[in-house]
Amino acid sequence: MKAIPEGYGWESGPVSLATYFGLARGATGRTDCCDHPSHARAALEMTKWFDTNYHYLVPILSAGQQFNLTENRPLAHFREALALGIRTRPVILGPVSFLLLAKTADGSDPLDLLPRLLPVYRRILAELHAEACVWVQIDEPSLVLDLPEKARVALAEAYDFLAASPTPRILLTASHAGYGQNLGTVLGLPVAGVHFDLVRAVEQLDLVLMAARPDQYLSLGLVDGRNVWRTDLRAALALLKRVVASRGGEHLMVAPSCSLLHVPVDLAQERRLDPALQTWLAFAVQKLDEVAALARGVDEGEAAIGAALVASDQSLQSRAAHPARGKILPFSADDRRAAPYAQRRPLQAARLRLPFFPTTTIGSFPQTAEIRANRAALGRGQIDQATYERAIEGWTQDCIHLQETIGLDVLVHGEFERNDMVKYFGEQLAGYAFTQHGWVQSYGSRCVAPPIIWGNVSRPAPMTVRWAQFAQSLTDRPVKGMLTGPVTMLQWSFVRDDIPRAEVCRQIALALRAEVSDLEQAGISIIQVDEPAFREGVPLRRAARPAYLAWAAACFRLATSGVRPDTAIHTHMCYSEFNDILPAIADLDADAISIETTRSRMELLDAFIDGDLSYPAEIGPGVWDIHSPRVPSAVEMLQLLRLARKRLADWQIWVNPDCGLKTRSWEEVRLALVNMVQAAKILRETNG
Ligand code: GLN
Ligand code: ZN
Repeated sequence: MKAIPEGYGWESGPVSLATYFGLARGATGRTDCCDHPSHARAALEMTKWFDTNYHYLVPILSAGQQFNLTENRPLAHFREALALGIRTRPVILGPVSFLLLAKTADGSDPLDLLPRLLPVYRRILAELHAEACVWVQIDEPSLVLDLPEKARVALAEAYDFLAASPTPRILLTASHAGYGQNLGTVLGLPVAGVHFDLVRAVEQLDLVLMAARPDQYLSLGLVDGRNVWRTDLRAALALLKRVVASRGGEHLMVAPSCSLLHVPVDLAQERRLDPALQTWLAFAVQKLDEVAALARGVDEGEAAIGAALVASDQSLQSRAAHPARGKILPFSADDRRAAPYAQRRPLQAARLRLPFFPTTTIGSFPQTAEIRANRAALGRGQIDQATYERAIEGWTQDCIHLQETIGLDVLVHGEFERNDMVKYFGEQLAGYAFTQHGWVQSYGSRCVAPPIIWGNVSRPAPMTVRWAQFAQSLTDRPVKGMLTGPVTMLQWSFVRDDIPRAEVCRQIALALRAEVSDLEQAGISIIQVDEPAFREGVPLRRAARPAYLAWAAACFRLATSGVRPDTAIHTHMCYSEFNDILPAIADLDADAISIETTRSRMELLDAFIDGDLSYPAEIGPGVWDIHSPRVPSAVEMLQLLRLARKRLADWQIWVNPDCGLKTRSWEEVRLALVNMVQAAKILRETNG
C-alpha cells in the first residue's frame, strides 16, 4: 500500500529500497537543508509502539491523500508459505489503527481519510480470499486505548464495509490491555473472531462470555507474550475449562497474549543461566509449546499433558522458595530534595559558570568495532582487566580531548566501558540475570537483549565512579556523571512478577541513590539520570496512569534527591510523547531534561508549555537526529534553536543532540558537534 509523503523519490509502482531507507533513516548526501517541504528529506518520526520498546515510523498523511495498492505483500507471503505446504493466517494492521497512529502535516484528522483507505483493504482481502486464504488476522491495537466516539463509529463503518464483500474470516486482535469501554463495539463488529489478552486483562472475561455471539470465535491469550516466565499451566487450563463450560469448545482458539515479537526466541539456546532460573523461564518457542499443551489439555483431557503440568507446578514452587527472593526489610529514604529548583538554580549557576545556551551531549560516543572487540577480548579471556581498562582510558582521553577542542561546555566520558545502558548496570547489581541470545527487536535491524530481574536488587559496590572520576581528572570543564534511571532499568528488563513492579523499581532506585551519592562525593557536579523508558511505562488506559506516574516519579526522586542543592540532576528522555504527562515530568524535580525534538521540528516542546504549569526547569531540545547518517549544518541547527526560543525562555535552553552518539561514526560526530557548537555561538553572539 502506498502512503508515501513527497520528497522521497516515489512516483509510481513498487516502492524502491532507496525510498524505504529514505523514510526510515533520512536521505544521505545532503548537509544543507531548507524549509521547503518538497525538499524535506529527514527521516519519518519514530515512536514507541504502545507500551513496548518496539518502535515504528509514524506515517505522514494529508487531507488530499490518495491510497493505492503498489503490491499485495500479505498475499505474496501467504503464497510463499503455501508453496511450502503451510497455510498461514496473514496479519494486517487494521485501517482504523493505521489512521489513528498516523499524523497529518496539515492538521486535518487522519480518520477522515477512512473512506479513501477502505477500498485498498477490501482489495487486499478480496485477493487473499480468491486464493483460498481461510483466516486473516487484522490487528486493531488502538482498541485497547480510551477511544473517542468518532473512532468507535469509524470501526463499525470500516468492518461493515469490509464484511460487505468476499473476505477470508477476520480475526480481530488487540493486546497489552483489555478492550474496556470499547468492548461493546468490538463484540458488535461483523468479524468471525476476536482476540483477548487475558494475561493483562483477565477481568474482561466474564463480560465477554456474557456478550459474545455464540458463533463468534474467541481467541484466548493465556500465555504471556510480554514476559519470560513460564505460564502457570494449571491456572490457565482452569480458565480455559471455564470458557469451555460456558460456551463449548467449538469456537475457541488458544494463543499467546500478544505478538511474540517482545520476547526472545528460544530458551534452549541458553547455557549459562542459573539452573533454578532456567526452569522458571519460557521464551517464544516454549510459549508455543505451552499454547499447544493448553489446547491439548482441553481436547484430550488433563492426563494428556500431565508431564507439562507437573513441570509447571515445580517451577512455581521453586520460584516461591528461592533465597534470591527472600524477604527484604522495609526501607525509607526521603524522596524530596532539600531545596526547591528556584533556590538550586543560582547555586548551580555559581558552581558551574556556564554560558547561555550551554552545549553538551547525551552521553555515549561512537561504540566502534574496535571498542566492541576490546570488550569481547576481555570476555574471552584474551586480555586481562588492566589491558582492557588501559584501552578504555585511551578512548576516554581522546573523547575528552575532542570535546574540549570542539568547545563543548559540559563534557561526558563517552560510555566506552558500557555494552548497553541497562546491561552495564544490571551486571553490577544483585538480582539481575543475563541471557546469551535473548535478543528482542527494538527498531529496524536493531535489537536489545533485556536482562531478567529475578531476585531482590541491591548494589554491592560503586558502578560508575571509576570512569567518571577518571574523565573529570582530565579536564577543568564539568564532566557529567551518567546513570540509567530506575524506571528505565525496570522497563527494559524482564521483571519478576511475584511482587509489584513498583516494589522492584524502588529497590533499583535505592541502589542508584547510593551511586549518585558516591558520584557527588567524587566531585561530580552534574549527574544525568537517563529515563528514556519513563514514558513507555505509562499504562495504556487513562484510569491506571496516575498510580504509575506517582510511583515512577517517586522512584526517580528516591534515586536523585540525596544530593546537595548545587549539584545538578539532569535527565534524558527520547522518542516519547509528553503531552499528557507533563506534570509527572515536572514532578521528577530534575534541574534539566534533554529530549529529542529534531524530527518533530520542536513540536514536541509544545507539551512543555502550559501557562502556569509550564516546565519549570532547564530543557535541552535535541537539534541533531542521531538516527540519521546525515550531518546537519550549523544553519539547520540554528533554525531549530530559533524554533525552541519561540517556546522557551533563553535561560532554560541547553543545546544538545537528540540522544547518545553510540551508533554514529567519529567523523559524523566530529562534524556535527562542530556545527552544533557553532550554532550555539551564533545564538549567543547575535542574539538570534
Ligand atoms: N546516556 C545514554 C547514551 O547517550 C542515553 C541513551 C538513551 O537515551 N537511549 O547513549
Ligand atoms: Zn535518548
